[in-house]
Parts: sequence; structure tokens; C-alpha cells
Amino acid sequence: MSLSEREVLKIKNFYMKYPNSKDWILHALNLSIACGERLALVGPSGCGKSSVAKAILQLLPSGSRCEGELSVGGVQPQALNQVDLRRLRGEKVGLVFQDPMSRLNPLMKIGDHLIDTLLAHSPKKNLAHAIEEAERLLVKVGINIDRFRSYPHQLSGGMRQRLSIAMALALKPKLLIADEPTTSLDVAIADQIMAELTKLCEDNSTALMLITHDLALAGRWCSRIAILYQGNIA
Ligand code: ADP
Ligand code: MG
Repeated sequence: MSLSEREVLKIKNFYMKYPNSKDWILHALNLSIACGERLALVGPSGCGKSSVAKAILQLLPSGSRCEGELSVGGVQPQALNQVDLRRLRGEKVGLVFQDPMSRLNPLMKIGDHLIDTLLAHSPKKNLAHAIEEAERLLVKVGINIDRFRSYPHQLSGGMRQRLSIAMALALKPKLLIADEPTTSLDVAIADQIMAELTKLCEDNSTALMLITHDLALAGRWCSRIAILYQGNIA
């Protein structure tokens, strides 16, 4: 295998600025993640960690500028059209946010969130099969099947984060980006969730980019740590 085939993410001499920012938010950034690797991106608040995730998934506000090399599994997200971008998000790269509610629809049942994700990316899949897979995913993240017809507000914060992890991993992406996934949870629950998240990544051979301001958490769950400081790897 060539080096690029073993890399799920490659960022080289990369620059990014928002439409209204004077200076580059990310500058001369170099970062790569090998297939199946667990990398932590650590740094103080405001240093640009979430901006890295947004650039990778092209979730930047329109008018933002990117320069330099950015490739995910060999494709350049900046060059993709809307259809291919949708496939990148979910199929190639899963995303978990700090606040699970931002991803969940309060009017949609737990099971339907997963069924929706599964069917949106493979419309030919039949419903019975999707239901079966959704149930399997729930069990995998430690949510009891009898919650299938519950609504997000009926779950605890930790359970909601488990659901968003199940959604992010539903399509077995090559890379999971978890942006402060446990910051809003208490320590004991955070630990359980990190254990499950890393186990699921391992089972699926999914690489993990853990974004956190917590160096101890990074050291505990990742094999490599990159420190981001003022938009550059320190
Ligand atoms: P972190 O995740 O490390 O806390 P962010 O990537 O969210 O940092 O932010 C990096 C910098 O970019 C901050 O100075 C922030 O104010 C700025 N920023 C974030 N989002 C936007 C935006 N949509 N428009 C303009 N500036 C932004
Ligand atoms: Mg952030």
C-alpha cells in the first residue's frame, strides 16, 4: 500500500479564513491520520479545532476561503458537488458534536433517526432491513431496544450522545470526527461513552479524530496527540 492509501486524512500547508475574518484562522496547517488511527486534536478554546472539522466536511459559511492541500480518503472535499458532499458526510466521515440535540429532531423517534440515516444513503435498502440494522446499532451503543419508539427528550444526555454516535457510525465511515463529544456530560458517563466510542471505531476499522481541550482525555483515548495553537500545530 502506498502512503496515501494508508491515510484517511491528509492536510498539508492548509489555510482557511471565514468571510469576515481579517487573518487566517488556520495557517500552514499540517495534519494526517492513518487508517484506523486514533488522533487527538487538542488546544485551547478558540484556537481553531472546530474549524478544522468544518473545513474537512465543508461546513464553512459561504465566502470562506481555503488554500492548500486537504484530502479525505483521496478526495478533495472542496472540489465536490452537493451530491458527492452529502455522500462524504456520513459515508466517508461521521461527525459527533458536543451537543447531541443539535443533530436530533425532537419530533422524531429514536429508531427513526437511525432508519433515516440508513435509508438516506442507500435508498434501495428495504425498510425491514433498515429497522433490523437500526436495532442492532442501538444495542451496540448500549441503548435498550424498548427505547426504539421514544423521543430524544425522553433520553438522558449520555443516551442522546450514544444515539448520535450510532448515527455517525451507521454507515461505517473511514473517519469519525468527534468534536468535544463528552464535554457536556459528567465524568463517569463521559468515560463510558469514550470507551464505547473507541471500541466501535476499532470494530469498524474507523479512524478517530478526537477534538478536545482536555489533554488528559486525549492521552487516555488516543495514540497520537496534535496540539493546535492559534491555527497551527505546535
Ligand atoms: P475551537 O473549536 O478551537 O474553540 P473554533 O474553530 O470554533 O475554535 O474558532 C476558531 C476561531 O474562528 C475563533 O476565533 C472564532 O471566533 C472564529 N470563528 C469560528 N466560527 C466562525 C464563523 N462562522 N465566522 C467567523 N469567525 C468564526
Ligand atoms: Mg470548538
